[in-house]
Amino acid sequence: MGDDMGQIVSLDQNMINMIAAGEVVERPASVVKELMENSIDAGATKIDVAVEDGGRKLISVTDNGGGMDASDLALSFESHATSKIKTNADLHTISTLGFRGEALASIASVAQVKAISRTKDSLAANCLEIDCGSKGDVNPCSGDFGTTIQVRDIFYKLPARRKFLKTANTEFGHIIEQFIRIALPNSGLDMTLTHNGREICRVNGTEGLRQRISELFSDEIAENLIETATDEKGLRILAFLGKPDISKTNNNYQYIFLNGRYIRDKFISHAIREAYRGNLEPDRFPVVFMFIQMPFEDYDVNVHPTKIEVRFYNTNLLHSQILAALRSKLLATNLDIHARLPAGPNSTSGSDVRRKEITDAMSEFFKKYRTGTTQQRFNFPAASRNTTYSPVSEKIATPAINQTCDNRKFLQIHDSFIVTESEEGFAIIDQHALHERIMYENLCKRIKNGNLESQRLLLPASFELTDSQAELLQKSVELLEKLGIEIVPFGPKTMAIQAFPMILSKADPVDFIRDLMDLLADKNLSVETDRLLEEILDMAACKAAIKAGQKLTDNEIEQLLADRHLVECASRCPHGRPTTIKFSITELEKQFKRT
Ligand code: ADP
Ligand code: MG
Repeated sequence: MGDDMGQIVSLDQNMINMIAAGEVVERPASVVKELMENSIDAGATKIDVAVEDGGRKLISVTDNGGGMDASDLALSFESHATSKIKTNADLHTISTLGFRGEALASIASVAQVKAISRTKDSLAANCLEIDCGSKGDVNPCSGDFGTTIQVRDIFYKLPARRKFLKTANTEFGHIIEQFIRIALPNSGLDMTLTHNGREICRVNGTEGLRQRISELFSDEIAENLIETATDEKGLRILAFLGKPDISKTNNNYQYIFLNGRYIRDKFISHAIREAYRGNLEPDRFPVVFMFIQMPFEDYDVNVHPTKIEVRFYNTNLLHSQILAALRSKLLATNLDIHARLPAGPNSTSGSDVRRKEITDAMSEFFKKYRTGTTQQRFNFPAASRNTTYSPVSEKIATPAINQTCDNRKFLQIHDSFIVTESEEGFAIIDQHALHERIMYENLCKRIKNGNLESQRLLLPASFELTDSQAELLQKSVELLEKLGIEIVPFGPKTMAIQAFPMILSKADPVDFIRDLMDLLADKNLSVETDRLLEEILDMAACKAAIKAGQKLTDNEIEQLLADRHLVECASRCPHGRPTTIKFSITELEKQFKRT
């Protein structure tokens, strides 16, 4: 070293702010978030966000909130300056709401900032400019009540960070996302978002939550939400649950708000997934908007610089309450898929045109970050997508149409689907999927009541197995008994099935036991006995159910249709595939231009 100077130097304040900025200000969208949050804290009822070049050139946020006087304006850009903590008692709010008074200082350390603000009792506004931390004087200027903060050329003195900014479209996509995350839970406020002089979105504070969802996303999403609310043990949950037909290929349409702030939380996501289990195929994600209200004391917001993650003190309670609320709502709702016939040529309404503009602006972002999420809506099975309605209409006239006991008509097509008249039109049923669901619920019910009757096989079915498989079966005697299966040793490395459940008479016993051993060997399942049992029943139901391609007698079809009303979740098979697609007569009439 040879240098007699010490190693430790203290960083100047601007350097400290720049380091803090690294945490808070990642990209233009983070600036938008901090500024909009400040506007809301200031009691604004109207917030206008205008950006240029994806926020790379300009971010401007104007509000009609309480504003700041000259001295507050000067102070607000000092680090650790906040009006939100004044007394020792308020210190508590640091931990509850996460006010740290460093957002403005951080932003002003990495960009050219101009702030204009006017309080309600002031005759004029005041203005302050700061260029990458070097602060000018506060001067009077003209301006409306409230505050405008303009942030130009973010990171322009920090080429290394500037280089990391993405294209204007991508950055704007992030801004839209932040805008949505703030606009949704604050549905009482008027807000606009403008990009390069073009208004991209305008939401109105009187519209209510569902309308806001429709404005920020689409009518289709807003119309396919099931609303549920609970209030228990200090935890209030309001949730809008997307029906399975608008599910997505990723989790980006899951919006969780805790006391009005957007958060991400893996326990909550898990509870949502569990709640939808059986209603969605495993690779689909539900659209969910959830607003949670709970005491600030029950969680800690200071675990993440932007507060997007929090730490709940009682995760189990939260998980179980969300799961219970969502699950019971989903089970109580008929989730049949309603087929939508392709729209006719003249169907674009005025508001759809406006929506299209918004959609266009968002589309690049969606393409990049939400791959595969647009137009996921179920239209027609892939094979018939282009031939509007031929597969059904051609066949429907030819064979004799049968009457069910309740006087409705049915018809089996391609030995796989059943077309049946319903009150509102007609429905197409996947015979395997529906029967699988019926078998599954039947099995669950019987297991619960402990009467899964078995019957002796006339000829014991023998099979070979490895030592470890034998050990697995040995360990699972109780489970096997519950299922009504009796297995006895039958020679070296051989066992024989002597009794098998009656209800599974269509399944091959040896084939069944082989799959059962696979499930028993699954490490993930062995820790969760409930899940294991469910998986086994799933598997059993699939094996015992009527297959696709199987010709059914009228009696069998009648039985199937009759049993349909017995099951709790008839619109989905246990794997989450739909069992039934409904068509309404109104849609058909529209298509045939009868209306
Ligand atoms: P914090 O929000 O954590 O207090 P900020 O750096 O974001 O810290 O803001 C500092 C202070 O500046 C706020 O506490 C508030 O007093 C004032 N302020 C910021 N933005 C506004 C605004 N839009 N309207 C009125 N006051 C504001
Ligand atoms: Mg703030």
